[in-house]
Amino acid sequence: MITETPLVIESLTDINIVPAQSSVQPQAEQSWNQVLAGATKGVKSLLDQLDLSVSDLNDRQQACLDFPLLVPQPFIDKMEKGNASDPLLLQVLPQSSELEPAEGFINDPLAEKHSNLQKGLIHKYHGRVLVLLSTGCAVNCRYCFRRHFPYQENRIGKNDWQAILDYVAKDNSIEELILSGGDPLMLNDQQLGKFIKQAEAIPHLQRLRIHTRLPVVIPQRITPKFVEILQSTRFDCAIVLHINHSYELDEKLILALSNLRKAGITLLNQAVLLRGINDCLSDQTELSKALFKAGVLPYYLHLLDKVKGAHHFEVSEKDAQLLHQQLLLNLSGYLVPKLVREESGKGSKTPVPMRP
Ligand SMILES: *Cc1c(COP(=O)(O)O)cnc(C)c1O
Ligand code: SF4
Repeated sequence: MITETPLVIESLTDINIVPAQSSVQPQAEQSWNQVLAGATKGVKSLLDQLDLSVSDLNDRQQACLDFPLLVPQPFIDKMEKGNASDPLLLQVLPQSSELEPAEGFINDPLAEKHSNLQKGLIHKYHGRVLVLLSTGCAVNCRYCFRRHFPYQENRIGKNDWQAILDYVAKDNSIEELILSGGDPLMLNDQQLGKFIKQAEAIPHLQRLRIHTRLPVVIPQRITPKFVEILQSTRFDCAIVLHINHSYELDEKLILALSNLRKAGITLLNQAVLLRGINDCLSDQTELSKALFKAGVLPYYLHLLDKVKGAHHFEVSEKDAQLLHQQLLLNLSGYLVPKLVREESGKGSKTPVPMRP
């Protein structure tokens, strides 16, 4: 609708008016939206920065028409130059195989459209609702199950906020708000703070959970103001990060996470099991250890959602089970994430059972 003012557009406008960085001045620390505005959007440009070249550039660029490439600089900085199989690069670099059809890989594998009763809100789990405050992300992960999600239809305007809060206020079985997306941290601190304040007025709400990957690709997003918002809310807060590989945990991210920990926020991680990226014992072990060292508990390890264009990432259920069993044998119990899959229409994640 033309009359609406989508929040996302608003924040993008903020980004666009940021003046270009002067090359003369000494480099001051950039704000997170400056970093976001400068994110890499071209396949060629990403490859050039890493001293890499490919023979199927056209196909990869074509894959971007379906789902654009988007990678902020701090994430690129964690990649290894000259390494075409860098586990961070492979998460964001389009492959020509994305263009091939694959049996069982479809546009909306979780049939989220059906639980999407109220614009910007998904109520499919008992006691908690997913609020899609932002339709955008700061990074486009090639395996994302929302790569074909009708975000356009779910643009959330200011009027929708009230409708979401009204829905939650009417159902006192809802104790937890899960801010999801897209990435909810695409909203600026002022917008987030305002939403949280309004939500606090609903007496049966007790917990606030934020699912985000933004700090992983732009650690500057954990601003002092954001930490303060979470510290001062009456809600018990958890942040569920999305980190797939230990290399994603560099010094800057670790520092940002320690600020959240100091504020008493529970930090959890969910990862997606991805072929060629984190599907071996050492990668998973290193990830769990690095997470714990950074104050984050491994929570979920997801089997890939069968979304069109992501079949090259698939790990078979059997291989996933074997890997998970090895993790149980090699790590303290609290360092082993739950192996789960998401099934449409289910009221929770489905645990992947142990093999006999
Ligand atoms: C699974 C899932 C939830 C619900 O999570 P639980 O931790 O099982 O309560 C919420 N948001 C997203 C994005 C999820 O994938
Ligand atoms: S950050 Fe999450 S929602 Fe955004 S593209 Fe990556 S996987 Fe998808």
